[in-house]
Amino acid sequence: MAENGEKAENQAGRHQEVGHKSLLQSDALYQYILETSVYPKEPESMKELREITAKHPWNIMTTSADEGQFLNMLLKLINAKNTMEIGVYTGYSLLATALALPHDGKILAMDINKENYELGLPVIQKAGVAHKIDFREGPALPVLDQMIADGKYHGTFDFIFVDADKDNYINYHKRLIDLVKVGGVIGYDNTLWNGSVVAPPDAPLRKYVRYYRDFVLELNKALAADPRIEICQLPVGDGITLCRRIS
Ligand code: SAM
Ligand code: CA
Repeated sequence: MAENGEKAENQAGRHQEVGHKSLLQSDALYQYILETSVYPKEPESMKELREITAKHPWNIMTTSADEGQFLNMLLKLINAKNTMEIGVYTGYSLLATALALPHDGKILAMDINKENYELGLPVIQKAGVAHKIDFREGPALPVLDQMIADGKYHGTFDFIFVDADKDNYINYHKRLIDLVKVGGVIGYDNTLWNGSVVAPPDAPLRKYVRYYRDFVLELNKALAADPRIEICQLPVGDGITLCRRIS
């Protein structure tokens, strides 16, 4: 129990640190969600990967447990089989995806950093879902361009999760809209960007938050104006915008 309490405290600290509090307005409420509905249902492998990731210096980047649960549920609801993930880190959202897909499901996963993926890989292998993952090390954009040029990938993805370089989201969207199938979903992560999307211009923001904020603001406007998609922006994690391709 003491150990759980300690973990809960660490989790609450991290939560505050990344500014999720500004989304939910209450750390106690967020903690309630985690302890009541998320942790008791979290698969053992996801818990193990979450705990490994918590020890990594860049753990601020990981997908939160409540968002992992959301992605897992969403993928099952839409019967996703062929998916893509841009931005893997240690693989928490990747594992949430891999566990949700059928045995012959596929995930094209891309990240410029393979080392972090390899931290989580043994857990993914132990969970028996590594065969669904095609990991490509390197920047995602050239891979997308290659797939577009190839022609045979148009309209083939049921779900695409974008959680990488925010200054490229618009560039990703230009390509992904062709690669996702009509009726399929693209999820853009961190679209509330620490709550900074509503910060006044002179607010004391960290450098990286300020730098990416303008890109996030542009993306949010562009998605709302795009007639090819229906959208729904959810305050889960750091904000996720679901885009359902309609044409
Ligand atoms: N979805 C991950 C999870 O659940 O832990 C978190 C991803 S983390 C927020 C962002 C990742 O994007 C980093 O691992 C980084 O190496 C990767 N990244 C940054 N630029 C990239 C690019 N141009 N192409 C592919 N991956 C990139
Ligand atoms: Ca994210």
